This record gives sequence, C-alpha cells and structure tokens, in this order.
Amino acid sequence: MSYVTKFLNIGKVMLLAFLIIGLGLSTARAEKIKAIATISIIGDVLKNVAGDKVDLVVLVGPNGDAHEYEPIPADSVSIAKADIIFENGLHLEHWLDKLYMASGSKAKRIVVSQGVAPRIFEDNPNETDPHAWQDVSNVVLYTKNIRDALVSIDPLNKDIYDSNVRNYIQQLQVLDAWVKAQVASIPVGKRKLVTNHDDLGYFAGRYGFKIIGAVIPSATTEAADPSAKQTADLLNIIRANGVCVIFSENMANPKLARSLSHEAGIEIGPLLYTDALGPSGSEGGTYLSMIKYNVEIFRKYLK
Ligand SMILES: [Zn+2]
Repeated sequence: MSYVTKFLNIGKVMLLAFLIIGLGLSTARAEKIKAIATISIIGDVLKNVAGDKVDLVVLVGPNGDAHEYEPIPADSVSIAKADIIFENGLHLEHWLDKLYMASGSKAKRIVVSQGVAPRIFEDNPNETDPHAWQDVSNVVLYTKNIRDALVSIDPLNKDIYDSNVRNYIQQLQVLDAWVKAQVASIPVGKRKLVTNHDDLGYFAGRYGFKIIGAVIPSATTEAADPSAKQTADLLNIIRANGVCVIFSENMANPKLARSLSHEAGIEIGPLLYTDALGPSGSEGGTYLSMIKYNVEIFRKYLK
C-alpha cells in the first residue's frame, strides 16, 4: 500500500470518527432536562426561560407554604431522577438539604437568588428575608441565573434560552415600570403595609412602601404565634400610623390576621399572592399576574 493510500485511509477513519462524535453531540439532549423548582414562582420563571426544553416538577405548588413544607416520598423520587434543582436560597428551603442527601441525587443545585442584596433585619440580624421575588428587579437576576445554569448543562440550546430570556426580561421591566406608575397614584401617607407574616420587605424597599408590622412578626410563617405583648405593640403602631387595612396571604391561614383586624377595628383586605402562585388560570396564576393583582389590591384599598 502506498503512503498516499495509507494517508487517505487514515483520513477516512478520522472523518468517520468526527461524524460519530458530531452525531453524538447533536443528540446529546434528545431527552428533556429533568428540572426541579422548589416553589411555584421559580417554576413559572423557569418555564419562561426553558420553554419546552425541561420536564418540570414543582415541589411546593400553588397556594403552598414553603416555610412549613413537609416533603412527601414522591419528592425524593423526583429529586433522585433530576438533572438540576432550582432553589430560592436565602434560607427559604430549610428542608431541602436533608431531602437531597437522603435521595442520593446527583443533580446540580442552583440558587436562583444569587446576586440579590439580602434584606437585613435591624432588630434580628440572624433572620434572613427570603422573599426577594417581591422586587421585580430581583426576578431579572433570577431569570439570568436560571439561563446561565441551563446553558451550562445544555449549551446547544443557548440561542433558545437567550432569546426566551430577552423576551421575559422585557416583560419584567414593563411590569416593574407599571408597578411604579401605579404606586405613584397611592397617597404617600397610605403606602403602609401590615401583613400576616413579614413577606413584603423587598416590595416595600423597591416601590416606596413602609412596613408597619406583621401579625406574625417574622419572615417565616413557621415562627411561633405572637405573644400578647407583640400583638398589643402591633395594635398601637397600627393606630399610631393610621393603618386602615391588614393583608393576609394565599398560602397562610388568615385566622390570626382576621382576629387582629377585628381587635383593631379595621378592614382585612383580600388575600395577596406572596409566597406562591395561585392555581393555573387564577389571577395569581403566573408571577407577572400575581404582582399585578397585588398592586391592584393596594390601589383599591390604600386610598
Ligand atoms: Zn413567606
């Protein structure tokens, strides 16, 4: 065999090898990414970024309370099968580490709030406020973190994720500007919030509200019921600030908030969507619609 023929044969083998590798790469993601979102709000943002590229399991679904969540056996199975897990972080999912370890999962874990400036409590520096999604500009960060994580495990679909993210961030920016415009029509003296638990701090910080207090004075519904003194103090501050409405949440029992509103002789507003979406098709069925709904309630009740 001449050197020329040998050279040509080696060339053919190499070409075949390249073809096989290329074929392998192009079908690397023939299956959808198995993704977990810990809460419904993250699940919705993820769907907007990933489109149909993921099979999504949401652990704490619509109207669910992540603070008090008790995992079920099916969660462990989903986590064991997952490629990637999207969690809020900021100590929201205090039950996730144990669940992850027990499942034997190898899934990549992504904290979607990475880069957010955490809200600090002056009187309780050990507590972290996890409700960063209440500031729409933070969800722009969530969206980018989710995009980067998806691209890292599925680089072939980068263009799709980039384009979905551009589209979704534009919607978030429109929403952010809309919220500011709506709030401008609420008298400054009325931009005061009393909620069931302390979950609107990021919202207040972004859009110029003052948090007067919370029926459960904590950033988690897991905290103990308020003491008689805490309730008396809250009643005083409600009166001193001329607060005329108390808001409770879609994922929490409004019993305490109701009894406080009764004691204070003030109205209790409709339930806000704070820590979870509402069921699909409801006014809180998506992140964009839940924020809109809450702001419309504020406009109606704070005047
Ligand atoms: Zn909460």
